[in-house]
Amino acid sequence: MRCAIVGGGLLGLKLALHMRAAGDDVTVFEAAPEIGGLAAPWRLGDITWDRHYHVTLFSDRATRALVAELGLEDELVWSTTRTGFYVDGRLLSLSNALEFALFPPLGPLDKLRLAATILRASRDDPAGELAHVPVGTWLRKWSGRKTYERIWLPLLKAKLGDAHERVAASFIRATVARLYAARRSGLDRERFGYVRGGYAVVLGRFAELLAGRGVSVQTRTPVRSVATAANGALCVSTADASYAFDRVIVTAPAPLAARLCPTLSEPELARLRGVEYQGIVCASLLLTRALSPYYVTNICDPVPFSAVIEMTALVDPAAFGGRHVVYLPRYCPADDPLQRLDDAAVRARFVDGLRGMYPDLRDEEILAFGVSRVPYVFPLPTLDYVDRLPAVRTSIDGLFVVNAAQIVDGTLNVNETVGLADAAVPQILAAPVARAMSETA
Ligand SMILES: Cc1cc2nc3c(=O)[nH]c(=O)nc-3n(C[C@H](O)[C@H](O)[C@H](O)COP(=O)(O)OP(=O)(O)OC[C@H]3O[C@@H](n4cnc5c(N)ncnc54)[C@H](O)[C@@H]3O)c2cc1C
Repeated sequence: MRCAIVGGGLLGLKLALHMRAAGDDVTVFEAAPEIGGLAAPWRLGDITWDRHYHVTLFSDRATRALVAELGLEDELVWSTTRTGFYVDGRLLSLSNALEFALFPPLGPLDKLRLAATILRASRDDPAGELAHVPVGTWLRKWSGRKTYERIWLPLLKAKLGDAHERVAASFIRATVARLYAARRSGLDRERFGYVRGGYAVVLGRFAELLAGRGVSVQTRTPVRSVATAANGALCVSTADASYAFDRVIVTAPAPLAARLCPTLSEPELARLRGVEYQGIVCASLLLTRALSPYYVTNICDPVPFSAVIEMTALVDPAAFGGRHVVYLPRYCPADDPLQRLDDAAVRARFVDGLRGMYPDLRDEEILAFGVSRVPYVFPLPTLDYVDRLPAVRTSIDGLFVVNAAQIVDGTLNVNETVGLADAAVPQILAAPVARAMSETA
């Protein structure tokens, strides 16, 4: 079987490994100059590191299995990190039970209710009820109005923007469950890890493995359309050529998948187009010093970015010549004006916000500043979304769509992404393939 995979992100690459193992002759088409998608590295000043912040959790079994398959298990570095909160103009540590007990913005009763809410959210939801309850209603009910408005609402707005009003409580369940997964697996606290050298090393090894197994990876090759030709063959068209395949797996985000596959049925196209995505403008900074001891600083005050992520609270700064890497993500949809602001304007706005939090930060301490913009990062789990999931198998024989829009009850992370690939392959192998007329005759 000839199998094409559209998208050389981690999902497409993992699917390529599976399909090759099943005996297919596999070609991956990737639009960008490099494989890796959201996990790809870039240059920041004189260093190479992940374009977007990435950690692996100790409980991320699928990610760890992939890292082992790539022969990089010994390169995983584990650590526990601290968490900060910026609230009422103060930077507070919220990394253990004692700090939670002393957390000034909330009274003792509010804290008890907050702890009970988190515990409740970490439980399974076998009937899937939380997919049908607005997240705000659920959080107000269990945490109370004050905690909702002081803590939950700013955090929801930071990740979801105005869309938080349309999102289901399953979002909080999935977020909390991921952070509590370690405890279920017997660890007292979650451990965070990364592969020495970052995703550049993971992807470099991935490319070698795929090449060694005979998978063809075509970078700088955006696919323009996937459609059934008059003779029944499934054709992948790029700017230069058109190729026939027996199976095509599209891993691009749902609205792009709809554009790529115009001959899908109207209900299929409507479902793909109807998936609402959150995007991101994510700044990376190379600094001469640390800002704080926290890996994540959650922000409850009005600041132009959603959080501060200090990669070098996890990665030894020696890896960057003693310097520090910090991310300032701002989650916003594709049509947000921030997505069109140039780098200089983003820098001015973000550095101004950063100085509000760390007033002694000086310009000369910022050695490099990079801006990444992505219109479609993760699908929003809006109310009743589980009833509108796009299917893997389409009405066109041999054409499949696998992407983050099919994550149920989870957040977007590499573990879920690898899990999507693992789950989709049996369905793909069991489904009919495309057949050109001359082959079926
Ligand atoms: C800010 C941020 C922080 C994150 N933090 C973490 C973390 O800490 N831990 C973690 O585990 N995960 C994290 N993730 C999530 C992780 O990056 C994703 O789970 C994973 O990379 C998704 O892979 P994918 O292949 O599904 O999608 P993508 O990476 O989006 O890949 C899709 C690919 O398809 C290509 N494509 C699209 N259209 C076409 C076309 N027409 N022709 C050819 N190619 C096309 C794109 O160029 C892209 O390379 C984070 C993501 C972001 C954005």
